[in-house]
Amino acid sequence: MSNITEEKLQQVWKETLADVKKEVGEGVFNNWLSRLGLISLEDGTLKLSAPSNFVKDNVSWRYSDLLKKVLTSYGCQVDFVSIDVYDNNNAEITKHSKEPPSKSSENLGVMKGVSGLDKRFTFKNFVVGKSNELAYAAAMRVAESETPAYNPFFLYGGVGLGKTHLMHAIAWHLKETQPEKKVVYVSAEKFMYLFIRSLRFKDALSFKEMFRNVDVLMIDDVQFIGGKDTTQEEFFHTFNDLVDNNRQVILSADKSPSNLDGVEDRLKSRLGWGLVADIHPTNYELRLGILQSKAKRHKPKIPDNVLEFLAVKITSNIRELEGALNRVVAHATLVGGDITIDMAQEVLRDLLRSNERVITIELIQRKVCEFYNVKLSDLNSSRRLKNIAIARHVAMYLSKELTKRSLPDIGRNFGGKDHSTVIHAVKRVKEEMLKDRSFENDVEILTKSLEN
Ligand code: ADP
Ligand code: MG
Repeated sequence: MSNITEEKLQQVWKETLADVKKEVGEGVFNNWLSRLGLISLEDGTLKLSAPSNFVKDNVSWRYSDLLKKVLTSYGCQVDFVSIDVYDNNNAEITKHSKEPPSKSSENLGVMKGVSGLDKRFTFKNFVVGKSNELAYAAAMRVAESETPAYNPFFLYGGVGLGKTHLMHAIAWHLKETQPEKKVVYVSAEKFMYLFIRSLRFKDALSFKEMFRNVDVLMIDDVQFIGGKDTTQEEFFHTFNDLVDNNRQVILSADKSPSNLDGVEDRLKSRLGWGLVADIHPTNYELRLGILQSKAKRHKPKIPDNVLEFLAVKITSNIRELEGALNRVVAHATLVGGDITIDMAQEVLRDLLRSNERVITIELIQRKVCEFYNVKLSDLNSSRRLKNIAIARHVAMYLSKELTKRSLPDIGRNFGGKDHSTVIHAVKRVKEEMLKDRSFENDVEILTKSLEN
């Protein structure tokens, strides 16, 4: 079956992709192969489109044999796989379209990576809290060492929590204190791109050559390196070479080495040999600290209660927190007017809505515990320590005000207390708010942060 009908080809291609997906796994498939578009199969040449050179090179190098094999098993004759880059979305490409316009290949200089450092991402600008203190201390140690401190230094954590910031901070510090050192920072995507290219064009500057004179190599977001094939094998050796030659390797990812998808066990274990440090999700205190530090750099003064409101309300990650602060400041600068909680609520309406949840007693308890820095178990206990008692009263008050639950129901949710305890708490909070302006302020912040 050489030249088959279009309809038949579409069908075979669909089945081929399904088989390939089974073979390579969901992660690899979604990252690479799902982004291909089918153009044609004529005279033994399978033509495909890819959204970028990076995808094109990677697929050509790693998966064209597999595609050939599977298609052949469906009776198609494939001698050659040709992939071209389309600028437009490949979903729109129709089969048998005219020859794809070939984009001139990207001209990438490796050392360009060094200049891609963000000026703001320094140690000085990094606010340290419980969730990132280990990562921070380790990064400092790496930045201050003359010989590799931990090799590799592997930094992991969720999105927007400061991994890239810490890597850049190491680079800035090294630039300042050990300027003779050659430091290279690259994203894993770019690293792989160069790597694959060096394998494909054997005559081109070899990959190892490119990185040979590097003292510190940083690769950001290495979760993109997954995929079962010879590339990993090569990466493994390159990585070992660097470490053996006493080069400091610093890696970041969204998962720990052992949890990286599609990475061989041997490499996983190798990546964990040095120091693995994780950045945890933020807590209220750190979020407030970061906002205070950033607010100092802004012109219009931002009232404390607005910062507290943002810290309670925006819990997803630091990038969003910063974004929220910037929006509030921009609004005040451009439109004028005071910065207040109400104004912030208005300006951030869409952002807040995406963090929005139904108000439950459990949510109230969580927010209150974080705000007053007490444990949930304390809230539900009968301990009378002042800050625990205050937190408990406030949480009961908010449960009464913001949910439709009955008093006995609320009591039950606080470690099985009587409804009279809830009545007492509500009364105390109301009285205290009249007397104490700052307490009233705290309750207001919590209320607004919970309200939809
Ligand atoms: P990641 O690489 O983990 O996704 P980034 O390093 O890009 O996250 O951080 C996202 C944003 O949050 C950046 O603007 C960064 O400066 C800021 N940020 C993260 N952690 C901190 C921190 N501890 N102190 C100050 N700013 C931080
Ligand atoms: Mg990052």
